[in-house]
Order: sequence, then C-alpha cells, then structure tokens
Amino acid sequence: CQASLESHETSPRNDEMPVHGLSTMIVGVLGGGQLGRMLCQAASQMAIKVMVLDPLVNCPASSLAYHHMVGSFDDSATVQEFAKRCGVLTVEIEHVDVATLEKLEQQGVDCQPKASTIRIIQDKYLQKVHFSRHGIPLPEFMQIDDLDGAKRAGDLFGYPLMIKSKRLAYDGRGNAVAKSEEDLSSAVTALGGFDRGLYVEKWAPFVKELAVIVARGRDNSILCYPVVETIHKENICHIVKAPADVPWKIRKLATDVSYKAVSSLEGAGVFAVELFLTSDGQILLNEVAPRPHNSGHHTIESCYTSQFEQHLRAVVGLPLGDPSMKTPAAIMYNLLGEDEGEPGFHLAHQLIGRALNVQGATVHWYDKPEMRRQRKMGHITIIGPSMGIVEARLNSMLKDEGSDSP
Ligand code: ATP
Ligand code: MG
Ligand code: MG
Repeated sequence: CQASLESHETSPRNDEMPVHGLSTMIVGVLGGGQLGRMLCQAASQMAIKVMVLDPLVNCPASSLAYHHMVGSFDDSATVQEFAKRCGVLTVEIEHVDVATLEKLEQQGVDCQPKASTIRIIQDKYLQKVHFSRHGIPLPEFMQIDDLDGAKRAGDLFGYPLMIKSKRLAYDGRGNAVAKSEEDLSSAVTALGGFDRGLYVEKWAPFVKELAVIVARGRDNSILCYPVVETIHKENICHIVKAPADVPWKIRKLATDVSYKAVSSLEGAGVFAVELFLTSDGQILLNEVAPRPHNSGHHTIESCYTSQFEQHLRAVVGLPLGDPSMKTPAAIMYNLLGEDEGEPGFHLAHQLIGRALNVQGATVHWYDKPEMRRQRKMGHITIIGPSMGIVEARLNSMLKDEGSDSP
C-alpha cells in the first residue's frame, strides 16, 4: 500500500477507479497517524478507499491505507499532487498547509471540513476570537507580545495564568502555567519566546472536563454524540468516561454549546469540542478539533456509528449514522509511553496482556515505529452494563489482579 512521491505515475487515479464500495470518492487524508489508521479501519468495513499523506514511511495508517503517499502535509507542492488523486480531501491533523488548501478549493478541490475552518482552528488565538464573536462562552483571553503585556494580563486575569502558544500545539505541548508574576519569564521561555506567537487564558477553575463529538453531514445535518468526561494527566488525555456523570441540565448545556460552536464553522466531518465545567454549573469552551478525536475513541465499541465511520459518511456525503451508545457505559484508557524504547514496549505489553483477560475490553495498538515517553501508543476501551462495573474492570486491569466477574 505504500508508495513514495516519485512512484505516483503508477498509482491509480481517482477517475480510473472501478466503483464497488459505498462511495465513488477516494478519500484523501492529510496525516497518517492513529486517527488516519482508525479511519482506514472504518473505511475498510464500507469498502471506501482512503489515501493518506504522511512523511513517515511506516506511519500508523500506512499498512491499512489503500495508498500511502510519503510526503509532508505541510508542503504545498506535495499537498497539490496528493489532492489530484482524491475525490475529497480531509484531515486527521489541523497543522497542515492551509494556504494550499484555500488555493485548491478555489481550483475546485473538495475539502471537508472547509479550509476556512482549518485556518480558524489551527491558530488557537484566532479560534478564541472566532468563538467569542459567535457568543460561545470561553475563558477570557488576550494576546501577549512582550513581558509587559504578559504582566498586564496577569494583573487582569490573576494567577495561575495559562500561557499558550497560538500554533502547532497538541497534548499540552504549547501550554505553560505561570503561578505568579515571577514565573512569567520562564514560562514564556519554555514555550519558545514571544516570537512563536503567544496568548494567555484566564485560569478555568473546572470541576470536570467534558467533550462532545459533533458530526455535520454535507447536507448540513448535525448530530451530537453523548457528552463524555475527559481526565487529563500533565495536559494529556488519560481516561475518557462515556457517558459523563453530570446532571441532565449540564449535559444539555454542554451539547447546546458544542452544537452552536460547530454550527459557526464550515464543512462536513466530525468535530470534537473540549469543554470545562465550573463549580457553578457554567460550561466554557476550551478548543475544537476539526476531525476525529481521542475523546471519541470509545465510540468504536460503544456507539452504533463510530466517530471514524461518521467522519467518512460525512465527508463523502452519505447519511449520518446513529451516534447513540449501544452499551450503558464505556471507559477509554490511553496507552501512553511510560519509557523510551524497549523498556517502554515491555511495560505497555504487560498492561495489554492483562487487558486481554478483562471482560468487555478491546485493545487498540497503533503500531508506531518508535516508543517515546508520553506518546500515544494505543488505547484500551472497556464497555459494560454500568460505569461502576466498567471502572472496577479498569481498576482490576491496572492493579494486575486479572479480570473481575460481571
Ligand atoms: P490537545 O491534545 O487536546 O490538542 P492542547 O495541547 O491543544 O491539547 P489544551 O487543550 O489547550 O492543549 O490544554 C490541555 C489541557 O490543559 C486541558 O485539557 C486542560 O486540562 C488544561 N487547560 C487548558 N486551558 C486551561 C485553562 N484556561 N485553565 C485551566 N486549565 C486549562
Ligand atoms: Mg489542541
Ligand atoms: Mg485540548
């Protein structure tokens, strides 16, 4: 399934393809990480052809994609070459060359979601400006260009103060917390300095973090998945609980805010809306991802239509599927690299060995070529008849006590 950029003459073109699957469109995905891999898995079920563009020869999606073009999704010529071979272009990462996507759209290339959406989302500050203009509740924020500006923000918003890089942020790499004015300078340095483009957010005193996957079809129909709770450790998603254990009113508010946020963006696909729940019952938006998301991995086992199938349905123009849960409760546990290299693989495989004996558990391993600390290497989803039982199963897996009885 792999081909280098140079071998494109021999690879099939969209207009020459015989049609046997649920769609005539070849779906081109910018990025071939774990999200691309799981898109390929869902595509295979529907016999939809997915091509991925990723610089890593052995990226997670490579072995499952209909075709893998080895090249950068941040390089204009490469993205243009890739787009020629696809019926619709989508993303599994927002840090792509958006100027090229805009140019391609003008030439008639079908991008879903739209380049305008990627442009807004890939700059977190622009994203905040956009959502505040659309009346979405979010933590107060302001751009900072120098230390004086950062101090003014600290005076205004108080401490701790969240300093964020506007671009290229993921898994918390791009965030730094200043506990007091004295911390500002080192926090800014840790993020690479003001030249990188920074802004600050008022600290959100959340009691829980919630997330909602929202799907929009090409006909603009919108469906929301059940609200989940996400638990982060050192800024990285660690556990997702579905559904979130919050009152009905909070679920409704979280869903309404997410619906409104996604309605303000253009294009088809699934979107993940990350939210903060405060102690006084407010919902504040943290950020939106224009693609399948870690908070939606549980949907593969727990919902009638997984987020990956839904994304494909949306971008090729099939009707959206049922996002509701077919099991009462699910927990997703991320397999993060605990150590570099072989020792890291050994630790992960110990846990996987235990998961294989846990009732209701499914193991996903992304087959990343290198193990690194804090890297998302795989995940385990456990489903069951209640959250209590699913939690007990997770605990038994983590404590090395073998599986529990239902
Ligand atoms: P992702 O991997 O989700 O893209 P990211 O690098 O874009 O992560 P954020 O989502 O901005 O980072 O922040 C990561 C985490 O840091 C959040 O999930 C939350 O736990 C914490 N956080 C972010 N912003 C704030 C804030 N304003 N106040 C308090 N905590 C925050
Ligand atoms: Mg992010
Ligand atoms: Mg986030």
